Amino acid sequence: MSSTPSASYDVVVIGSGPGGYVAAIRAAQLGLKTAIVEKDAKVPGVGLGGTCLHRGCIPTKAMLKSATLFDEVRHAADFGVKVSGVELDFDAVRKFRDKVVIKGARGVEYLMKKNKVDIVPGFGRLDGPGRVAVGSPRARKSSRRRAFSSPPVRLRATCRS
Ligand SMILES: Cc1cc2nc3c(=O)[nH]c(=O)nc-3n(C[C@H](O)[C@H](O)[C@H](O)COP(=O)(O)OP(=O)(O)OC[C@H]3O[C@@H](n4cnc5c(N)ncnc54)[C@H](O)[C@@H]3O)c2cc1C
Repeated sequence: MSSTPSASYDVVVIGSGPGGYVAAIRAAQLGLKTAIVEKDAKVPGVGLGGTCLHRGCIPTKAMLKSATLFDEVRHAADFGVKVSGVELDFDAVRKFRDKVVIKGARGVEYLMKKNKVDIVPGFGRLDGPGRVAVGSPRARKSSRRRAFSSPPVRLRATCRS
């Protein structure tokens, strides 16, 4: 994982969900120097992948697999298969779900490295034409706007016509 206090890129993508990481890979494959900014990428190999990987498609489908299997085994006798002592171990279900999610996040990180996309952890915001500031967000009590609690990393994206 790499980040520098100030750096220049052709493309800066904010957000590493399916929309963001695919766009970053494509930009890099086209020869553009690319960075991807992700606020959840605090720990290497864990935070990339967006809603789909961490809270949406993937964890729900992993849990659905456990639920489907449990239901099938409970009704196995209908198919002439006798089983007993079938129990749902919810901690193990959670472990399976988390293993699938972490494997996916490591996969996204691998794809970033393979395609030479720099990962910049932090909260990104547009900071003027062709500029992105990255920092850690802190909610202001008096308003719904976000402010940076520490000096942001500044990335410059070259605008080409
Ligand atoms: C419960 C659930 C189940 C789903 N199941 C399916 C399914 O089975 N099939 C399907 O096709 N779709 C499913 N979806 C929808 C799918 O998750 C979304 O369509 C997809 O994640 C959208 O991708 P995205 O890249 O646009 O955004 P996201 O995946 O939301 O990614 C956005 C990323 O940007 C980051 N980010 C946002 N703002 C900033 C910022 N300012 N600075 C830095 N980082 C930032 C976020 O942390 C996040 O990682 C499901 C969604 C949910 C909630």
